[in-house]
Amino acid sequence: MEDRSLPELGDLDVRIAIKAAGICGSDLHYHQHGKVAAFSLKEPLVLGHEACGEIVEVGKKSTLTPGDRVVINPGLVCGNCKYCLRGQENLCRDIKFMGSASYFPHIQGTFQETVVVREQQCHVVRNDTAYQVLAFAEPLTVALHAVRRAGNFFNQRVLIIGSGTIGLLVASLARLSGAAYVAITDILDYPLQVAHKLGVDECINAQHDNEVIASWQQEPNSFPIVIEATGTYKGFEVALSSSSPGGKVVEVGILPDGQSEIPFSHAFAKELDVLFVLRQNLQFSPAVDMLEKGKLDPLPLLSASFALNDFEQAFALARDKSKAIKVQLEP
Ligand SMILES: [Zn+2]
Ligand SMILES: [Zn+2]
Repeated sequence: MEDRSLPELGDLDVRIAIKAAGICGSDLHYHQHGKVAAFSLKEPLVLGHEACGEIVEVGKKSTLTPGDRVVINPGLVCGNCKYCLRGQENLCRDIKFMGSASYFPHIQGTFQETVVVREQQCHVVRNDTAYQVLAFAEPLTVALHAVRRAGNFFNQRVLIIGSGTIGLLVASLARLSGAAYVAITDILDYPLQVAHKLGVDECINAQHDNEVIASWQQEPNSFPIVIEATGTYKGFEVALSSSSPGGKVVEVGILPDGQSEIPFSHAFAKELDVLFVLRQNLQFSPAVDMLEKGKLDPLPLLSASFALNDFEQAFALARDKSKAIKVQLEP
């Protein structure tokens, strides 16, 4: 923990007192390895990008008001490049993303008492939805984006590889979208128990239930939609082998930098569509709307909340996947 002086507000900026901020897998990676995929730290960085809070001060031209409860979109896009103009904001080459080393100088993250963001990054919440719920908005945008990439879940068999926050949110969305059957895997029992509570039809331990996973290679057990949410090449391999001919595989994890030996012959022989997901695109309004209206309850995924001072304990618990899904800090 350190004290920093408060940054000045620009005309369209707002200062937000952070009330809840989730610890993401990417925060754990930066904390432990100093990098995520090909993004390496080049200077000290405050982590955190899944946050909500209360506006405490506004710039001269801001239309927001102190006291407004807001969810923060951690990505500030340029608005002018061909990707922004095409409505693919996540592909903006100039995106300034909080708590990430993707932009230099790095944009400081949300594990602070207050942050300054542009007002366009704020989604105002009109009711008293708990901050612990609202801090799930950012991961929910990623899950929604992955589901949109995957297409229509209605009446489909859907497989999700990995029962972390994103995998479990995708599972909840699959159930809400009328999927006929939802299966999920993990290598640990605790997240599978949470998946079971969420009503997932089949919760498979990938360490022990090899026969089940092998059975998915054949019809009618294979899946026309597979979402890979572990960000590992092993998971990606299972996703390809479990996919039905003509199926879709969506990789929503962050695959590690470097070489891999993926047997793409599966993908060829079944003519699979393999899609990747970079963060999210235009999903903040729908995500905040779902949380505000209580259409999706993320709290079964919240394992614990800690004061900002106890961040070391919080990070240690977040890293122990046998005990925790999502851990939040409450500055
Ligand atoms: Zn994240
Ligand atoms: Zn742009």
